[in-house]
Amino acid sequence: MYFKVQILIALIELRINKWCFRNRLDKLQAKRWNKLQNKLLESPFYKENVLNKTPLQQYPILNKSEFMSNFDLINTVGITSYEAMKVAEKAERLRDFSPTIKDITIGLSSGTSGNKGIFMVSQKERAHWVACVLDRIIGFSLKKRSVAFFLRANSNLYSSVTSKILRFEFFDILGPLDNYIAKLNALQPSILVGQPSILIELASYVKKGLLSISPSKVISVAEVLSPEDATYLKRVFQQTIHQVYQCTEGLLAVTCSKGFLHFNDDFLIIEKKYIDSEKKRFHPIITDLLRTTQPVIRYELNDIIHEKTDCPCGSSYTGIDKIEGRSDDVLSFKSDQNEKIRIYPDFFRREIILANSSIKDFTIVQKTGSMLELYIEPFEYYRSAEKRLQAFLKSQGVHEILIKQTLSKNHTQGNKFRRVQNEQKEN
Ligand SMILES: [Zn+2]
Repeated sequence: MYFKVQILIALIELRINKWCFRNRLDKLQAKRWNKLQNKLLESPFYKENVLNKTPLQQYPILNKSEFMSNFDLINTVGITSYEAMKVAEKAERLRDFSPTIKDITIGLSSGTSGNKGIFMVSQKERAHWVACVLDRIIGFSLKKRSVAFFLRANSNLYSSVTSKILRFEFFDILGPLDNYIAKLNALQPSILVGQPSILIELASYVKKGLLSISPSKVISVAEVLSPEDATYLKRVFQQTIHQVYQCTEGLLAVTCSKGFLHFNDDFLIIEKKYIDSEKKRFHPIITDLLRTTQPVIRYELNDIIHEKTDCPCGSSYTGIDKIEGRSDDVLSFKSDQNEKIRIYPDFFRREIILANSSIKDFTIVQKTGSMLELYIEPFEYYRSAEKRLQAFLKSQGVHEILIKQTLSKNHTQGNKFRRVQNEQKEN
């Protein structure tokens, strides 16, 4: 019961602060940053910075590997990464979804190439997370509702939302979807949550007449939702597809009433590290003002974000036009003059769509500096797509690239689906 009270308090706090500081976001951030610094005194990694009154802009920027290698010093509860990893891995093996040390919940993030991350949250932080999910994603209501949630593994972060009026039903994405259809038809979920690749498969069951559900909200999580997929899902489910941008580092952004993502600037400070000369794309550097167990201070994500500055909803929170992918989805080549040429995933997506409007699916994997593997569905459009890609690469000064057809999509069930991927070790 105590946890539910904490959630309620967190929910009220979120709303009051958002309302009181609605035109003074910088004041709210400053207030929370001051409070957070007291807590940082307990972090051996940050203590000196606080004592020296270092402004936030001069704190070190950390990427994932720097963050993980300093894990033991950064956290404020004296838990080592060795201890946390041991507990989390054991829990994953036993499919026990509530591993804790000293009342701190330990979680593992999937990560790519064995680059697993650990996250730790206290009960209070979990309550805040749940409150935020209720406030900004599911929507607070006293009506009885059920949520069908497709995810890699159950987690006590999610099940903590369950109550008498909100029922969560988890579907492990590692299982065959065929087995879930009857259960979904019986459940008639009010809210459907899953990654786009799963939602698209479910949509195909709807189109075949095998699945008949009418959720009032469809939420895409975990993977990049391309505009084409969003349009398709919107048509099948007959509604705006909402998105949640969340990672180990917290609940970063949620969609507004107009269907665009906005960062949660009321408790996050977002700095933009532009990565292209036109300043269209940036990596977000995030500071989470409410995470204290494992502080997240100037943490650089490798996601490629396009900013939206003119959202029709009128919100002053940082808008996201799209998430293009991650930096390791950028393909890299050498020009004839041996200069490095980096091409963003969006350009490839555009070329494939323009090759033929009947192309339903594709994946591109860069195997080496001069070889790409291309999957096109239906297969009959492969040649036109390949031709178009070759012409495009030439227009970018990239010559003599071998494009090989593959008959299997670059996707393993249960993993994050990425349409464009660079598998070269160095790029
Ligand atoms: Zn908006």
